[in-house]
Amino acid sequence: MNLVLLGPPGAGKGTQAVRLAEAFGLQHLSSGDLLRAERKSGTELGRRVASYMDSGALVPDDIIVEVILARVLNPTKPAGVLLDGFPRTLAQAEALDKALANASKKVDLVVSLVVPDEPIVERITGRRVCPTCGAVYHVKTLPPAKEGVCDKDSSALVHRTDDTAEVVKERLSAYHAQTRPLEDYYRGKGLMVEVDGTADVETVFQAARREISNRVGEARA
Ligand SMILES: [Zn+2]
Repeated sequence: MNLVLLGPPGAGKGTQAVRLAEAFGLQHLSSGDLLRAERKSGTELGRRVASYMDSGALVPDDIIVEVILARVLNPTKPAGVLLDGFPRTLAQAEALDKALANASKKVDLVVSLVVPDEPIVERITGRRVCPTCGAVYHVKTLPPAKEGVCDKDSSALVHRTDDTAEVVKERLSAYHAQTRPLEDYYRGKGLMVEVDGTADVETVFQAARREISNRVGEARA
């Protein structure tokens, strides 16, 4: 089975992707990981990926499609793949469908983690990071013993510039604008299921797992 997992940045999609892939015996394909791996491989394609990443530009659609489709069509797990971070645009979704159809395969289900913007903004803007040991705190949900200071090494905690409300809201609105047509496309095909992503990690995982089992098939373990 081939699954697509959608969800806004900060919704915990990466964590769910790893667990769901394991539960259904699927190969977890994260577009970010794949691009980094291709780059490291030093192939001609990898060098092209690197030139975009280094200049801070978005890697263009056709390159992403080329990198990812090669893996989708040749999964290391016979059960199939779970796509995380791809497709991101309607054009990518259509390219994916075409490639899968050529191989007599298809997207079996699209699971969308639904989380309103507000809790995501709160989660991310409250984040404080230790520059020394990398520990992550949250001013409300996971505060250090002493305000602004790391419990482990007493370093002053940092509020990353990417973690401001303005940046997070901008990222979310870009995500929604890009994903809406994608969701409409899959909804039109009857492939979309929505899962409430606001609960804790375990509850969200069980809900997603249930939806996939009901719609596509049982988990292996
Ligand atoms: Zn620390």
